[in-house]
Amino acid sequence: MRNKIVAGNWKMNTTFQEAEDLLYEITDLLNERGKNDTMIIICPPSPYLEMASDIGVENDFFVGAQNINDHEKGAYTGEISAPMISSMGITHVILGHSERRTYYGETDAVIKAKIDLALANDLVPIYCCGEVLAERQKSNHFEVVRQQISEALFHLDADVISTVIIAYEPVWAIGTGVTATPAQAQEMHAFIRGLIGSKFGDDVADKINILYGGSCNAGNAAELFSQPDVDGGLIGGASLKAGDFVTIVNSFSE
Ligand code: PEP
Repeated sequence: MRNKIVAGNWKMNTTFQEAEDLLYEITDLLNERGKNDTMIIICPPSPYLEMASDIGVENDFFVGAQNINDHEKGAYTGEISAPMISSMGITHVILGHSERRTYYGETDAVIKAKIDLALANDLVPIYCCGEVLAERQKSNHFEVVRQQISEALFHLDADVISTVIIAYEPVWAIGTGVTATPAQAQEMHAFIRGLIGSKFGDDVADKINILYGGSCNAGNAAELFSQPDVDGGLIGGASLKAGDFVTIVNSFSE
């Protein structure tokens, strides 16, 4: 059985006080509206991880980091390591996000090193993949995603990869207000599940969680989440609005 998962990527937003207020607003709304069995993972900016984790423990949500360094420790001024966040009780980490690939030049090799460090330190990677618009327009999107998945994940053992969360995030949909149609999301999710199945077997493919990300919001989450291979969402902008985020959390049909 796969989980229903909604993860919030707050990116580089909120002051400390705004972050704390938003977390309490979310938990109050979850208590008020009732909470289903969705697994919630909130990924705030790194300075707030400990505060968020303390609130998460009390309120039944997990906390993830938005990045780790590709080295375990050492002279890397300003960086944050997998052992550091793991030792603070953080459980997840977003890796391979298109903003890190684009603005910080993260290659598949760097991302692969981060995946290994995350797993070695008991962190669940939320591994992002997805094509840019030009790649889709050239009908190259399946090949792009195949490469991203195989280079970052195919070296793992079957029992390890089934613990990884994959997020399909078409880059043209991130922060643009242009959402993939439910059919486009389902088509790619089924393709990714098929890839995992052909490498690791159907049992692993059936178990692995694949989230959709890219302008997913309170108005479109239910239709996206109703697709058979969409196990939830990685939410950027809409995760900063408590009401919208809680609506998304409760968007799964039973
Ligand atoms: C993201 O950056 O992971 C994301 C999905 O952003 P948005 O929801 O704002 O498109």
